[in-house]
Amino acid sequence: MKSNKNIVILGAGESGVGAAYLAQQQGYDVFVSDFGAIADNYKQQLMDWNIRFEENKHTEGEILKAFEVIKSPGIPEKAPIVKKIKEKNIPVISEIEFAGRYTDAKIIGITGSNGKTTTTSLTYHILKAAGLNVGLAGNIGKSFAYQVATEKFDTYVLELSSFMLDDMYQFKSHIAVLLNITPDHLDRYDYKLENYAASKFRVTQNQTAADYFIFCADDPETIKGMAERSFAAQQLPFSIQKKIEPGAYLENDNIVINTHQQHFQMSITELALQGKHNVYNSMASGIVAKVLELRNPVIRESMGNFKSIEHRLESVGKISGISFINDSKATNVNSTWYALESMTSDVILILGGVDKGNDYSMLKSLVKQKVKAIVCLGKDNKRIHDAFEDVVEVIVNTYSAQEAAQVAYHLATKGDTVLLSPACASFDLFKNYEDRGRQFKQAVKEL
Ligand code: ADP
Repeated sequence: MKSNKNIVILGAGESGVGAAYLAQQQGYDVFVSDFGAIADNYKQQLMDWNIRFEENKHTEGEILKAFEVIKSPGIPEKAPIVKKIKEKNIPVISEIEFAGRYTDAKIIGITGSNGKTTTTSLTYHILKAAGLNVGLAGNIGKSFAYQVATEKFDTYVLELSSFMLDDMYQFKSHIAVLLNITPDHLDRYDYKLENYAASKFRVTQNQTAADYFIFCADDPETIKGMAERSFAAQQLPFSIQKKIEPGAYLENDNIVINTHQQHFQMSITELALQGKHNVYNSMASGIVAKVLELRNPVIRESMGNFKSIEHRLESVGKISGISFINDSKATNVNSTWYALESMTSDVILILGGVDKGNDYSMLKSLVKQKVKAIVCLGKDNKRIHDAFEDVVEVIVNTYSAQEAAQVAYHLATKGDTVLLSPACASFDLFKNYEDRGRQFKQAVKEL
């Protein structure tokens, strides 16, 4: 073991606190530093475990003593403290990289701009139903590090964000899934899509011929990025546009999966998760299951009975024949496009919030086809008005989830769907997208 045993953890959220626990368990001297206030539950845990920490500051003298720093994904590379750490040549890694050193479990790493949580949860659901001793971690639930310290799983399904992947070097996914690449978080990547794509492709780093790389053959940025790189792993693409073998494709509304020795088929009408985007997500999960040689009846049953996840095309219920759907997690235009695309009835669309420089033009033809009225939910709705006033007749401004639900309800008639899929961030009126979704669901209950 190194003589310098000081590990510093920057950021005391779920991943930082989990990393602190694991590092302490492994015999390191741990110091946690957070530039903001630490949430009470995490502070309590650090105190219970006798881990030293500071909040509302970064004490350089303490931090620069470290031989290695574990950085929370939310802290940008350009933060002054990170620059100072790097100037001193102290390695900076992510919690996933750190925890990966202490487990020999099989890793399924899932990334992409959209669909990560859905695909990770669905994959976990299938593996668990098949009886595997499997954990679920990454950007979801209990931190990977905490689980590595306290559980003995044989397999992990990990949701990996690009910020996590950025600080991963030795880590390897035995099965890597890349769902899609569309512009997001570009402020952290010098506004260059290729930098963001490079981060996503790290999900395949260190793979060998014994490993698998599952990706969407219909996604232009993925295909472009693949042409610029080489891959050691066995490639298993999925597509709904063309027949692909080995891999997955769509034939007469059936998902067909062929891996090297395995075959699976299922009608998309039997999938619990509806919509074109979920056909992709289900294909990706199905390929993982077949790589692991799970039995077809278990896969079919699990894909058929999976419950949709909160805030992602979540069905809220029906009132007077009008369906209400909470898709509050759609915080960019691309997600809203897929939500709208999956709608089979006329829609009253609740849109708006903090506009991140959105280009609404990609929504226009779907809005024309499916949307009867747009209800804007946000402090400033001008850009939405300008984008849609020539394609949809009614655009109404609202300033709370309750008001939006009421207005949408009055505009809808029997058989319509009220869809909250805002295409914008939520923090003009809400704490976060979860708060927005919950307030909407409460408002629907009170109608
Ligand atoms: P993430 O975890 O990557 O943010 P989620 O699974 O939480 O993704 O889904 C967020 C939203 O993105 C969903 O509400 C849906 O509208 C959209 N979405 C889900 N899967 C896909 C996909 N494969 N391609 C494009 N959009 C998707």
